[in-house]
Amino acid sequence: MKLEEKQLNDRDARLVISDVNPPLINSLRRALIADVPKLAIEDVEFHLGSIGSEDEDKEYESNTPLFDEIIAHRLGMIPIPTDLKLFNYRDECEECGGEGCPNCTIIYSLNKKGPCTVYSGDLNPVGEANLRVVDDLIPLVKLEDDQAILLYATAELGTAKKHAKWQPTSGVGYKYYPVIEIDADICDNCEECVKACPVDILEFKDGKVTVTDIETCTLCKSCVDVCENGVIEVNGLDDKFILRYETDGSLAAEDTLQKSLEILDEKFENFVNMVDEI
Ligand SMILES: [Zn+2]
Repeated sequence: MKLEEKQLNDRDARLVISDVNPPLINSLRRALIADVPKLAIEDVEFHLGSIGSEDEDKEYESNTPLFDEIIAHRLGMIPIPTDLKLFNYRDECEECGGEGCPNCTIIYSLNKKGPCTVYSGDLNPVGEANLRVVDDLIPLVKLEDDQAILLYATAELGTAKKHAKWQPTSGVGYKYYPVIEIDADICDNCEECVKACPVDILEFKDGKVTVTDIETCTLCKSCVDVCENGVIEVNGLDDKFILRYETDGSLAAEDTLQKSLEILDEKFENFVNMVDEI
């Protein structure tokens, strides 16, 4: 298997993978979606009753226009920065036996008084400041005058097999590597294919039709359909693929890929061991 990195930054990845087959690349796609763990808020403890203010002599009602369940759900969907080397699954944590400790949970506090809009950036990690959420401007709820919210939210590791809030990636997909062949000897240079291409990757240059960016080709074959002489052939290679995905920022694209490969490796190893035991 060969891996060519076209783009690999914090949140986006575009990779060309060759010497591989569709089932294997599909396993990688599935691992990227459902097997790579990340942190997400799982428990939320809302303060009930009145909330005092330190700087003004005023009492606020612990009240918002939304049900607590809706706010808890929104909190669950906020991307939490995840270092997979530092955290254990809470239910497997040997330090605390699942009670919750710094090795398996992060606690955030939220304390806002209206009128205002409460954003994800208002969540404060209890303890380590470097665990602040990655996106500050995700709106959670609008508070009116006299309304306030005070809560503690606990994030823990999970995978998307249990809930989509633990899915670090989105838009995970691959396509067959495209190949466009144009027989220049028969081509009458009518340029119909250039006009028909929806992604504009064909151009007429130096007396012939050329391909400008093969990896953008969607294999739609519009060029083949309009070519009256039948000189264009478009095919996808079934041993070379373009894999693309994004992350929500909780994990870097490279770390997500590393982890998914580790997980696949472990699964295949377990399978080999099981076969050996037969
Ligand atoms: Zn623990």
